[in-house]
Amino acid sequence: MGGRAGGGASAGMGRGSRGGNSEALEKNLRLWEGAIRNRDNEAVVAFDKDGNIAYLNQGDESSSEVDYTKIKDKVVTHNHPKESDEGLYRIGKSFSSEDIQVAVGANVKEMRVVTPTYTFSLKRPKGGWKKTESQVAKAFSDIAINKIGKSDTKYWKSGKTQAEKEKRVERVYATHEHRIVKELAKQFKWTYTYHKN
Ligand SMILES: [Zn+2]
Repeated sequence: MGGRAGGGASAGMGRGSRGGNSEALEKNLRLWEGAIRNRDNEAVVAFDKDGNIAYLNQGDESSSEVDYTKIKDKVVTHNHPKESDEGLYRIGKSFSSEDIQVAVGANVKEMRVVTPTYTFSLKRPKGGWKKTESQVAKAFSDIAINKIGKSDTKYWKSGKTQAEKEKRVERVYATHEHRIVKELAKQFKWTYTYHKN
């Protein structure tokens, strides 16, 4: 990973807009995230600090591989299609382990994901991500198995009826990634934010 050279033009340079982003960047983010959040396939867009598109993958290419060199130091957003129209499944999912591995591997400035109803963001700390892809992968699965998984299983199995069990499975499944990322960000001291649109 590139180390200290990467952070130069990032947040905190007094660009005068919220989150250190320029107005043009905020405007284009809103525009593009609005356009991709309801899509059925996954699109990836990366912006430079002035809101220009540095990388675009509309999701119709056969490969979902992202070009790391093009997204380095960029604000990267993409969408997670909802898996179903039923209940909580409509929320869509927060970051996958792979998403976060791309963020640290490519050393992006910010990684975002949008669903039809939510926006999630992980911002690179001033001193850099300071984690490798394999550290992310390991922490993500450790949290999934040991921290989240065990209590989730206990929770849904203790549902009194079959209907209640199903409701509980839905609840833990729909928020699974979100709770992992929340814990991961806490452990790594990263800023994880999310809001309903
Ligand atoms: Zn993703």
